[in-house]
Amino acid sequence: MTVKQLQEEILTLKKQNDVIILAHYYQPIEIQEIADYIGDSLGLSRTSNEKTNTDYIIFAGVDFMAETASILNQDKHVLIPNYESCCPMAAFLTPEMVIDFKQKHPGLPVVVYVNSTAAVKAESDICCTSSNAVKITENISKEFNVKSVLFGPDANLADYTEQMSKIKTIKMPKSGHCYVHSQITVGDIEIGRERYPEAKLLVHPECVREVRDLADFVGSTAHMYNRVKDSSQDEKEFIIGTEQGLVERIAQDFQDKTFHLAKDKLICYNMKKHNLELIKYLLENLDDKTFEVKVPSEIAKRAIEPIEKMLKYS
Ligand code: SF4
Repeated sequence: MTVKQLQEEILTLKKQNDVIILAHYYQPIEIQEIADYIGDSLGLSRTSNEKTNTDYIIFAGVDFMAETASILNQDKHVLIPNYESCCPMAAFLTPEMVIDFKQKHPGLPVVVYVNSTAAVKAESDICCTSSNAVKITENISKEFNVKSVLFGPDANLADYTEQMSKIKTIKMPKSGHCYVHSQITVGDIEIGRERYPEAKLLVHPECVREVRDLADFVGSTAHMYNRVKDSSQDEKEFIIGTEQGLVERIAQDFQDKTFHLAKDKLICYNMKKHNLELIKYLLENLDDKTFEVKVPSEIAKRAIEPIEKMLKYS
C-alpha cells in the first residue's frame, strides 16, 4: 500500500470513528499531513484542552505530551501509536528529586518544563514550555516575591530563561538536556555560516549557550515557524537548529525559501517511533488498552493545577 493510500484510509477511519489526531512538529511529515492539529507542546496542550470534543485522541508525540493530554482530558481516551516513544530529557528528573530540591530551597517556586513526567508536574507550582518559559518564570517569581526559582529538567532552557529574565534558575538537575539540541556545537555553526553566509540562523533554547549566542534568533519550534512565516522578501535562506521534522514542515509551507539543518541527522528518534501503519491499527482497535495513556486520577488532580496555571499565564 502506498503512503497516499494509507493516509486516505486513515482519514476515512478517523471520520467514521470521530477521532482527533494531534501531531508534534517533529513527527514524520506523512503523519503531520493527516493530523487535525500540528503544533509544539504548548499549542498541542491548548488544543487538547480546548478543541477536542471527541472521546478518542490519538497523540503522535512522546509520552509526556500524551500524559498532558490525559491530565487535561480525564474523561477521554488518549492513545499513543507507539508506547515506546519516550522523551529521554523527562527521565532526568524524578518526583523524589523535586521534593529533595524543595526541602533544600524552601520558599522557592518550582517551574517544570512540560517535558517532564506527570508525577514531576504534580510536585511543581507551574509548568512552562520553550515558548513561554521566560514569561512564566517572571510571573511566578513575582507571585512568590523571589529572585530565584527551581527549574527542571532542561538545564539549557533554564540557562536561557535566566539570561532573558535575570531571575536565577537553580537547575534540577544541572545535567538535564535534550540529546537532539545539545549536540549542536559552535563548530557546526561555523561550518554552516561559512557554507551559507546569507542565511539567518534560528536555534532552539534547548541548545547550549555558546550556540544560542551565535544565533540571529532563539525560539521554540512554534516561534521559529512564525519567524520564517513573517520573514521579509530578502530573507531567503535559513539555517535551522532544531529537529528535522520542523525543517520538513517549513520547507513544505514556504517553498520560496531554502532551509538547511544546523547539523546532519538532527533527529529525535523517540519522536519517530510512530508511523502510519500504527495509527491505522489504533483507529481499527480503539479499545486496545495497550496504547492508552491514562494518568492516575490522584496524580492528574495535582498535575492539572500547574498546567492550568501555565495556560492562564501564557
Ligand atoms: S527532541 Fe529532545 S526534548 Fe523533544 S522529545 Fe526528543 S529528546 Fe525529548
